[in-house]
Parts: sequence; C-alpha cells; structure tokens
Amino acid sequence: MATAVITGSARGIGAAIALRLAQDGYDIALNDISEAMFENNDIMDRIRAEGVVCEKFIADVSNYEQTEQMIKDIKSRFVTIDVLVNNAGITRDGLLARMSEENFDSVIAVNQKSVFNMTKHVTAVMMKQRSGRIINLSSVAGLYGNAGQFNYSASKAAIIGMTKTIAKELGSRGITCNAVAPGFIKTPMTDKLTDAQKEKILQLIAMRRYGTVEEIAGVVSFLASKDSSYVTGQVIEISGGLSM
Ligand code: NAD
Repeated sequence: MATAVITGSARGIGAAIALRLAQDGYDIALNDISEAMFENNDIMDRIRAEGVVCEKFIADVSNYEQTEQMIKDIKSRFVTIDVLVNNAGITRDGLLARMSEENFDSVIAVNQKSVFNMTKHVTAVMMKQRSGRIINLSSVAGLYGNAGQFNYSASKAAIIGMTKTIAKELGSRGITCNAVAPGFIKTPMTDKLTDAQKEKILQLIAMRRYGTVEEIAGVVSFLASKDSSYVTGQVIEISGGLSM
C-alpha cells in the first residue's frame, strides 16, 4: 500500500486532501502542530472508514529537528513515503508599514521553511525509492501579491520557486513536484475575513463563489495520480477564475 503524508491536516484543506487520498487508496500519515488539534475531531475515524491505515504525527513543521524525527517515525511505521503534501500554513496579515518582525518571521518559518524541512527529509526516502510525488500549497497571493499579505505573499511565492527547483533537481529520479495555488476557499482561515471583505472578493471571482476544500483536494488527487505522471514543476491555480 502506498503512503501519503499531509502536513497541517487536522482540519481545513489538509484534512480534505487526506480524506480524498484515503479514498484514492493511500495509507495516511496526518500531521499537525499539537494533540489538541485532533481533539473533538473525527478526521482519523473518517479516514479509517475508507479502509486504509491512518496515524497522526505531532510536529511543528517549521522546526528542522522535529520534522527530521517525524519523517523517521513515519518511515518506520509505513515503510515507503509515496506522496508528500506540504499544506501547513498560517496567516498574520497586515500592511507592510505596520507589520512586526515577529509576524514576518513566523509566516516565513511555517509556510516557507517547512517546505525545506519536510521536502529535504522526505526526498531522501523518495530518492532511494526512485519515485515520489510532492505537492505544495501556494496561493494566488504568491502569484499576484496581495495588499495586506506581504509576509504571506512572500512565503507563497517562495513555494513556487522551490517547487520548480525540486522538479528540476529530482525529475531524473522519478520524483515530480507541483504546486496548487488556491484562490478563496471556505475554511477557518478565510472565515476570519469581514463580511465587507468577503463581498468585495466575490465580485472579483468569475464564478462568483468561494471554492470548497474538496475542489482543492480533487486537483491534489490528480497530481498524486498516474494521470499526471508527466506533469512536473507546474503551478495550477484553483480560484474560480479570480485572475484572468
Ligand atoms: P487552516 O488554518 O484551516 O489549516 C492549517 C492547518 O495547519 C491547521 O490544522 C494548523 O494547526 C496547521 N499548522 C499551522 N502551523 C503548523 C505548524 N507549524 N506545524 C504543523 N501544522 C501546522 O488553513 P487552510 O485554509 O486549510 O489552509 C491550508 C493551506 O492552504 C495553507 O498553506 C494555506 O496557506 C493554503 N491556502 C488556503 C487558502 C484559503 O482560502 N483557505 C487559499 C490559498 C492557499
């Protein structure tokens, strides 16, 4: 049985991706920053109901040592690591002029450095297997910038550079690396927006609605599947036609 590791997967887009990959037949290694994220949460039961193995691994993906240990633990539990989805992310929004150094550093650490930490350790395993799929969560903010998200846009643009570089470095080893760039998806992250902000955003979306977590998970499923075996170094925007 093939195994998929999804970071930040106790809730939101990560949980939807984990459930979808379980439906595709992968055993699932969930990750989140604390045990508390899995309390009063049925995600593990829902994944196991698909008939696959599912375990959770607690680690802060911005921490190099913790990710190294987590990948060792996942490897000893599941043997192979076939798919890595770098999904964990945070926002600490604010205009550049008012942004604190702490809010800049924390977003870069969780959204950007985590991709270095996770991918370095997972690709060591995938290179021995001579196969693997890596899928990174970027954002439309990384493609086009977004006022009020200097730190977040920087981290999500960096993910695109890392995605293309991983694709070039590891393509010959049978490893593909792609990114998805969601627009506005209904999750706890976007629930924080004010009604006025939400209404303004809707007017910019050709489809005049927010995306669902399942619509992100469907594209990630494609990027993990045999159907995308010759796709690498690409960024797929999933935004209902936000930017055209
Ligand atoms: P979310 O806040 O609902 O979920 C993020 C998960 O990551 C949470 O479970 C959180 O606990 C976990 N996490 C945070 N820091 C972590 C750390 N240091 N180590 C391990 N886990 C950690 O967010 P979401 O909306 O589901 O977003 C998922 C990804 O999709 C993020 O990378 C986000 O930037 C990206 N994205 C979201 C949207 C959107 O509209 N929601 C749009 C574009 C991109």
